[in-house]
Amino acid sequence: MKNLGRDCVVSFEEAFEIVMISAHRLGTERVSIVENGALNRVLREDVASDIDIPPFDKSAMDGFACRRADLGNELTVIETVAAGSVPKKVIGLNRCARIMTGAVVPEGANCVIMVESAERTGENRIRFTGDSTEDHISRKGEDTKKGDVVLHAGELIRAQHIAVLASAGWVEPLVSARPRVGIITTGSEIVEAGEKPAAGQIRNSNGYQLSAQATGAGAIARSYGIVEDNKEQLDAMVRKAAAENDVVVLSGGVSVGDYDFVREVLKKNGVRLLFERVAVKPGRPMVFGVSDEVFYFGMPGNPVSSFVMFELLVKPFLFKMMGHDLKPGVCLRRLEEDITRNRTARDSWLPVVFTGSDGAAKVEYHGSAHISALCKADGLLCMPAGVGEIKAGTIVAVRQI
Ligand code: AMP
Ligand code: MG
Repeated sequence: MKNLGRDCVVSFEEAFEIVMISAHRLGTERVSIVENGALNRVLREDVASDIDIPPFDKSAMDGFACRRADLGNELTVIETVAAGSVPKKVIGLNRCARIMTGAVVPEGANCVIMVESAERTGENRIRFTGDSTEDHISRKGEDTKKGDVVLHAGELIRAQHIAVLASAGWVEPLVSARPRVGIITTGSEIVEAGEKPAAGQIRNSNGYQLSAQATGAGAIARSYGIVEDNKEQLDAMVRKAAAENDVVVLSGGVSVGDYDFVREVLKKNGVRLLFERVAVKPGRPMVFGVSDEVFYFGMPGNPVSSFVMFELLVKPFLFKMMGHDLKPGVCLRRLEEDITRNRTARDSWLPVVFTGSDGAAKVEYHGSAHISALCKADGLLCMPAGVGEIKAGTIVAVRQI
């Protein structure tokens, strides 16, 4: 790792690497899949099935279970097998059982003909009317064998994972603890959302946004309110938040203004700052630091900058702490118009909207305070450092937000 001096600007890649290397694993807990306790949590153990799935040869259709060799003959229906019951009879020559989807295929049968391909020819007698048929039998253990690992540690539990946990009988999976994220909003000009801003004041949007982003990333977010641009107040709040959280996220005060005290206060508290600026637009002033047990992110005060930097750095970091390697959702789209810029020193992220089935276009965007532009956007498009133009018609990778 480079020696990162006070004024050192790191590339996004360097910042990402520093953040990801620093993340330590959180502890674990068991949660119940009943009432969605496990949804969006990160699994921290391998899960094996205690049974074969399907547990028996299962009919995939409503129809008649019979012997393939008898398909050309008239068949006698010897019983009806409903889902949940067990067949009592063996299927012999020119015999069949009426069978429902999900029911156990009787011994002796090796295919199920669909109801739609059968014709009644008399009392308890049918005939196959098709030319050929598939077996329509889901074989015992064809999806999963008893003892197979069906989910691996590190997977993010989504709805489909809940189904697999349930079918494996794994009702209390071991998952990562949720990171506790304390959010401190700084700025003497900031007032809470419920207040009417007086002259020179603006409403706190960033703190709420950060809280929502942290919650969306699976963290337990706790807001520590607004702190004025005052070293003593900030110091006290940083200590309090650090004592109660795994991660402290600060909004604002990380730039080089006369009243930007975040870096100074963090350092005074023994926090080692691993970078203080990232070559990303929007979001250059962005601090990451570590102390004994706690991580600190100093986010830019402007809501678009803060949003983007959270998405790019903080979110993957929080998932890494939980043991999950987050893959951002990316969509390939055809750019509708040329995008150009003069200064190319930084990666620049632009809000874009999806058009038609495969297009992407810029949304009106006035800069890093223009948060409503992100509400119209479907994703963010990156112009990497060094690139000054992307031509209309280019297929671009858009990061969904
Ligand atoms: P700072 O990073 O403190 O220099 O702030 C940069 C810009 O973001 C300034 O225009 C601030 O007024 C604005 N800003 C700072 N904090 C917030 C916040 N919590 N909500 C909305 N805007 C903010
Ligand atoms: Mg400020």
